[in-house]
Amino acid sequence: MIVDLRSDTVTQPTSEMLDAMLRAHVGDDVFGEDATVNLLETMAAELFGMEAALYCPTGTMSNQIAIKVHTQPGDEVICDQTAHVYQYEGGGMAFNSGVQSRLIPGNRGRITADQVAAAINPDDVHKAHTSLVCLENTSNRGGGSCYDLSDIQQIRTVCDNNNLSLHLDGARLFNAIVARNESPKQYGELFHSISVCLNKGLGCPIGSILIGSQAFIKKARRVRKVFGGGMRQAGYMAACGVYALKNNIIRLQQDHDNAKEIASNLIKTTFTAGLLPVETNIIIFEIQPPFQAAQIAAALKEKNILAIPISPTHIRMVLHLGITPAMVQYVIDTILSLNL
Ligand SMILES: *Cc1c(COP(=O)(O)O)cnc(C)c1O
Repeated sequence: MIVDLRSDTVTQPTSEMLDAMLRAHVGDDVFGEDATVNLLETMAAELFGMEAALYCPTGTMSNQIAIKVHTQPGDEVICDQTAHVYQYEGGGMAFNSGVQSRLIPGNRGRITADQVAAAINPDDVHKAHTSLVCLENTSNRGGGSCYDLSDIQQIRTVCDNNNLSLHLDGARLFNAIVARNESPKQYGELFHSISVCLNKGLGCPIGSILIGSQAFIKKARRVRKVFGGGMRQAGYMAACGVYALKNNIIRLQQDHDNAKEIASNLIKTTFTAGLLPVETNIIIFEIQPPFQAAQIAAALKEKNILAIPISPTHIRMVLHLGITPAMVQYVIDTILSLNL
């Protein structure tokens, strides 16, 4: 048995999900004729109370398309300094959209309306034109931290007053929605566009969905084609997204509970200095001297538990639907008895 806590991207489709994929009705989606892709896009748009949606191969592509549609070359995009769109998309916003980022030191990945307001450039020919704010919920580098909706509302007000678009990198948005007992429609009201990963905690092997207004999605569809993301009989993959939206959202609570249970035992170990608050399915814990993150990760690997040392002093564990109660118990027993 391998307990893979490196990421919630490692999930494998269940046999029910694979069944749904095999039975999908498909067509050429570039012609708009794939019934299953159309169904997924309609479902996602309705779920968020927005007008339209676009199925994309990856969350990175969803974000990059959104940035491209919301900006012009030379513009500036405001985001947290740890944001995925800045840290982990290969410099994509510069490469694909010719824009630069204005980085804000947030609180575990979350920025405030005051910080956004202070980062907007004046109307001055020397300055880049600020056109977009990107938020991330949950925040990956924030250890799965969640925004308060009231804080997002305040950011939206600043955006409205300054003619800025507001995009949500919601790769793990459903984790936040479940943890905070919110509804997707509350997010649909606050953002101009939202990207959601299907390939993480929702358990799909592939896929992401970008949601927005009719006009936004029309432009996004063109950009997706330009980026090489226009797929043909994509319904075989979209079918797992339909399955996931129906079956795999509520169960995310189990992953959150598992994360809290492991975290409450990690804190008892000799090698743990502290943990970021565990709000959803991500645990980030700090290793104290004389131990090192790589050493602890290696010791766990010896016991068939995989986790990523994300810095010399920090390890990340991510819970997901592939982790059974027996595995959680095994992880707890192992960390409490680790021989270092
Ligand atoms: C995983 C992730 C993405 C991108 O997803 P891919 O499908 O792997 O490209 C975007 N944003 C955040 C916060 C993520 O964690």
